[in-house]
Amino acid sequence: MNTPRIVIAGAGTAGHHLAAALRESGFDGAVSLIGDEPHLPYHRPPLSKDYLAGTAHPDSLSLRAPAFYTEHKVATHLGIPVRQIDRTTHRVVLADDRPLAYDHLVLALGASPRPFDIPGRDLRGVVELRTRADAESLREHLREGCRVVVVGGGFIGLEVAAAARKRGADVTVLEAKPTLMSRALSTTAAAHLAELHTAQGVQVVCSTAVSALEGSAGRVYAVTTTGGQRLAADVVVLGSGVVPNVAPAAAAGLDVANGVVVDEYLTTSDPRISAVGDCANFPAPCGDRIRLESIQNAVDQARYVARRINGHTGTYSAVPYFWSDQFGMKLQIVGHAARSDRTVIRGTDTKFSIFRFHGDELAAVESINDPMTHLTVRKILGAGGTLTPDQADETVDLRALARNLAG
Ligand SMILES: Cc1cc2nc3c(=O)[nH]c(=O)nc-3n(C[C@H](O)[C@H](O)[C@H](O)COP(=O)(O)OP(=O)(O)OC[C@H]3O[C@@H](n4cnc5c(N)ncnc54)[C@H](O)[C@@H]3O)c2cc1C
Repeated sequence: MNTPRIVIAGAGTAGHHLAAALRESGFDGAVSLIGDEPHLPYHRPPLSKDYLAGTAHPDSLSLRAPAFYTEHKVATHLGIPVRQIDRTTHRVVLADDRPLAYDHLVLALGASPRPFDIPGRDLRGVVELRTRADAESLREHLREGCRVVVVGGGFIGLEVAAAARKRGADVTVLEAKPTLMSRALSTTAAAHLAELHTAQGVQVVCSTAVSALEGSAGRVYAVTTTGGQRLAADVVVLGSGVVPNVAPAAAAGLDVANGVVVDEYLTTSDPRISAVGDCANFPAPCGDRIRLESIQNAVDQARYVARRINGHTGTYSAVPYFWSDQFGMKLQIVGHAARSDRTVIRGTDTKFSIFRFHGDELAAVESINDPMTHLTVRKILGAGGTLTPDQADETVDLRALARNLAG
C-alpha cells in the first residue's frame, strides 16, 4: 500500500493536525477530512475565553486559512456527519449517503457536552459550550447586569464565569462536588481558584447540585438547587463535563469504553482504524487507561498517527499538559494525577506550583502564574526524568536538573 487513502472523521483539532502532519511529512496519498460542523477546523480554547468575552476577532479562531486545505490537497467535507462505518467494504458513509473509501480511517470525533436530564433543560436561555456556534449564541446572552448561573465548576464553567464577569454579568457557579475542578486539581489549587473567583465577584457555591430549571413563556428565569435555594437566572450555562463521541465506532462494532478503545499504537480493535484526541481511550505509561481532553493530547496523538502511517514503528508516548486562563490567572498542569497522596508546594501566594506525588512518584505539577516551573518540569519529564519529593523542594534548582538531563 504505497499511497493509501486516509479518511479522517472529525474536522477539529486532532483531525486538522493529522491532515497537516501527513502533508508536512510528504505523504502523497489522498487525504479526506470530514466534519459535521460547517466550519474549517478552528481553535476551541478561545470559545470560553477571549472570544466569549468579545475581545478576540472571529478570524483569529481559524487554525489555517481555507487556502491551506486546497494547497495541501486535503479534501474537506464540512457540515456533514459520518453516519456509518462499513468495515467490510472499508468505507465511511456520510449522512447524505455518500460513501468514501479508506485504506486507513482515523476517528477524531471529539466529545460532546454531557447530557443533562433535568426539568427545564429545553428552556430558552439554557445553553452549553462546545462549538463556535454555542459560543456565539452564549455571547449574545451575556450583557451588563444579566444573571448567569453556571452549572459545573470545571475548567469550562470557570472560564465562562470569568468571561461573563468581564462582560458585566452577575455570575453564580454551582458545583456538586465539595471543591472546584475536583477531577483535575488538588484541593490547594481548587481553593485558590475559589478565592480568585470570589474576589472577582463570582458567587461560588460548592456541594450543591441543580434540581430543576424554571421558566416562563419558554424562557428560563430561575434555578432551584438540591439544597432548596432558588436563584434568579437569565442565562444558565450547563458545564458539567463531556462524553466522548463514539456512536459511529460503537455501531461498527469497535471496542468502546469511555471512548474508542485503542492500543499503544492508537489503533482500535480494527487494525485499519485508529482513534485520536478527546474520543480515544488509550493506555497511559502509568498503566491506567485514560482519555484526555486537551489540545496537547489531540495534537500529539494526531502527529503520532501521521508518523505511524508514514512507517514509524514506535509506540505512542507524550507528556500530558493542559492550561486554563481565568481573570488573568494562568493555570498550567503537566502530568496526569489519577492518584496522589502527597503534595510539595514551591513559590509565593500568587505565583506557585503544586507538585503532586503518589507515594514518591511524581504524578502531576499544577502551576499558578508560574510558567517557568511548568516549562522546566515539562523538560524534565520530556527527557525521561522525574522528581522526588525532596527534589521538588524550594531549595532545589530545577532548571539545573533539567539542563543536566538534557545534556
Ligand atoms: C470551550 C472550550 C475551551 C477549551 N479550552 C482548552 C484549553 O484552554 N486548553 C486545552 O488544552 N484544551 C481546551 N479545550 C479542550 C480542547 O479543545 C479539546 O481537547 C480538543 O479540541 C480535542 O480535539 P479533538 O479533535 O479530539 O476534538 P474536537 O476539537 O472537538 O473535534 C472533533 C470534531 O468532530 C466532529 N464530529 C463529531 N461527530 C462527528 C461525526 N459523526 N461526523 C463528523 N464529524 C463529527 C465534532 O463536531 C468536532 O468538530 C477546550 C474545549 C472547549 C470546548
